[in-house]
Formats: sequence, structure tokens, C-alpha cells
Amino acid sequence: MDFAGRVYIQAIAETAAKLNDIPIALHLDHHTTYESIVESLKLGTKSVMIDASHQPFEENVALTKKVVEIAHEYGATVEAELGRLVGQEDDLQVDEQDGAYTDPDLAVQFVERTGVDSLAVAIGTAHGLYKAEPKLDFERLAKIRRLVDVPLVLHGASGLSKEDVQKCIELGCAKVNISTELKIPFSTGLRNYLITHPEETDPRKYMKPAKEKMKETVIEKILMCKSNGRV
Ligand SMILES: [Zn+2]
Repeated sequence: MDFAGRVYIQAIAETAAKLNDIPIALHLDHHTTYESIVESLKLGTKSVMIDASHQPFEENVALTKKVVEIAHEYGATVEAELGRLVGQEDDLQVDEQDGAYTDPDLAVQFVERTGVDSLAVAIGTAHGLYKAEPKLDFERLAKIRRLVDVPLVLHGASGLSKEDVQKCIELGCAKVNISTELKIPFSTGLRNYLITHPEETDPRKYMKPAKEKMKETVIEKILMCKSNGRV
């Protein structure tokens, strides 16, 4: 949003939705302010995330509730986060000692009090690349799933094994966020092309292999989540 501009991104997504035969929605990821979300709601964005998970519980509830109220007026759905994932997400850096798993009982309260449509949970995943193999708290996820009736969201899925992601889906995660693992093939494709074609100056040419590489990973992830052909 900051780099390309909200208006442009919104228009691209709407055009893609019009031209393709599958449901396409633009979703705002990890927005931390009410104002930035309202800006997008006014442009027609129908799915937003307010991430106040770095704030104390009561502040998180208050801000999420405020966003839910305005978003629902615009016919948009809201994802919020409870618990804190470690790692770097855009401008937000959470150090390891500041990470916190989602408390299942607080999750019940949070969903009831905010009216949020989906909930991102912290169960041991991190944003960015994993330094050591992540140990996920499946029991916690199962408990949250039993107690809370909105769809759950898994953030930090880059670098998780196929088995772990599939288990999270089986235990109730309805949305899986993957970013870093898509950025890597894009930059590798771009870098390799420019190294082997040092004379190339046309972005229409050197962007193509980057996009192709990213697309391969997107296909792989769609198959991993078994979300193919589910229209
Ligand atoms: Zn995230």
C-alpha cells in the first residue's frame, strides 16, 4: 500500500476479479491503524486485518471493535490477531522475548467482545524465515478451535513443513498466510536472469522469469493447502 498506493492496488484487484472466473478479494494484511483501514474501506476493500496484537489486551479489544464496527458498515469482514508472532512483518519487528502464544480463554472473550470475523492465532509460527525448526502448539490450536466459532488464520507459514500446515488446516485454520516463501523465488528468478543476461535493460523481459518462478511456488502452496478447485 505504501509503495504502490491504495488506489492503484484496489483497481488492479477489482480488474482481476472482473476478468477471472474465481472469487478474488483484496485483503489488507497487518494494518495497525484505524485511519489506514478506513481509507481502504472507502475505496471498496472488503477484507481487512487490524493487528493490535502488540498492544495490551484491552487496547487490542477496543481498537479491533472500532474497526469491526466501521468495516461492517462498509460490508467488509475483519481479521484480528491475539497473541504475538515473532519476526519481521513490514515495519513491525517483534523480538523473541516479546512473542506470546494465544490464550484460548482470552480468545473466547476477544471474539465475543469485538465481533471479529476471523482470528489470527500465535501457536509458535514466526514471520520471515525460521532459524530453527518451529515447534507448533497443536494442542493449543485445537483448544482455541473448540472454544471459538470464527475461522482461524495461520500467519508465518513460510518455511513450515507441508505436514505442519496440513495439520493446522485440519485443526481449524481456514486461511494460511505465506509471504517470504513467495518473495524468495521472485528475487531468485530476477537475479538469475540478470546475471545470465547482463545486457538486459527491459523490465518487460527480466520481470517475466521472476513472476514465473513465484507462480511455481504459488501453485505448490495451493496444492499443499488443498485449496485447488474449491470454487
Ligand atoms: Zn502475518
